[in-house]
Amino acid sequence: MIKNIKINTIKINTIKITNIKINNIRIKNHSSIKNKRKFRGGKNMLVTTKEMFEKSMKEHFAIGAFNVNNMEIIQGIVDAAAENKSPVILQASSSAIKYARINYLMKMVEAAVEEHQEVPIALHLDHGPDFETCKMCVDNGFTSVMFDGSKYDFEENIRLTKEVVDYAHAHGVVVEAELGKLAGIEDDVNVEASDAMYTDPEQAKEFVERTGCDSLAIAIGTSHGAYKFKGEAKLRFDILAKIKELIPNTPIVLHGASTVIPELVEMCNKYGADIPGAKGVPDEMLHEASKSGVSKINVDTDLRLAMTAQIRKVFAEEPSAFDPRKYLTPAREEVKNTVSHKIRDVFGSNNKI
Ligand SMILES: [Zn+2]
Repeated sequence: MIKNIKINTIKINTIKITNIKINNIRIKNHSSIKNKRKFRGGKNMLVTTKEMFEKSMKEHFAIGAFNVNNMEIIQGIVDAAAENKSPVILQASSSAIKYARINYLMKMVEAAVEEHQEVPIALHLDHGPDFETCKMCVDNGFTSVMFDGSKYDFEENIRLTKEVVDYAHAHGVVVEAELGKLAGIEDDVNVEASDAMYTDPEQAKEFVERTGCDSLAIAIGTSHGAYKFKGEAKLRFDILAKIKELIPNTPIVLHGASTVIPELVEMCNKYGADIPGAKGVPDEMLHEASKSGVSKINVDTDLRLAMTAQIRKVFAEEPSAFDPRKYLTPAREEVKNTVSHKIRDVFGSNNKI
């Protein structure tokens, strides 16, 4: 009898432990779903690019879309946006998402939104390669996705873009599409300069009408990476003007639009880097584009250079330094300064909240 009771007790304990475990999992799942809803639908929420683009088209300025992949970059960007009262787009490529890991990325962006409630912040997928990646981002709370079908022919690009548009719109998310090819290297995308094709304005009109995309990335001479031009930098403003004439209400996006800031390249090289001949789109051209109907300008290379320049400086000047905070603090500050410069001096999105 005594033995049986013991067994019963053990059984009861086992059941209890099992129950607690199940309850814990349920509670955990429940609260994370609730948090996500609060994040997307509550007070502290990411916005889509819709309103900021409407304002940009009306008031002739561009919004910076800055690539993120770690905490310091995110903080540098949103601090600069807040200080300059500018709307901002945080964007992550699929390889950046892989690097940061989606849950970390979402939580860091969530923290940024909570900290700067007055700043309109959109979270955008840069160069979504396929439907699955776009869907994954929509499902995780991104407010904007790009589907890059520029490597496909016109009809296939339309078909695949439309698929993403249908899914994203059903979930309140906006879609950027791309027509025309940019030269250069960005993560997995590598296009030879000779293959680069300017966007055809008539095709752009048909493309936007048939896909229902919310914004369009065009090719007018920019290219990805740190080596954009061999000779003189040249952008086809005539093509931009024609596109704006045919689709005046579609926000236009410029990729491959880092300035490759000479001072930062110089600083990197001064402290041991080997980045000779790097050349981007001059600030004046980007400023002109901002006033001529471009609503979103992507910046990745310049932020990479900003971080690297400061980290190299610390390592070169203080070989004994090994506390990551010692070099990541000035790196974060340089990201902030670089973003502030873009917002104030190039894009003109300051005081546009
Ligand atoms: Zn791009």
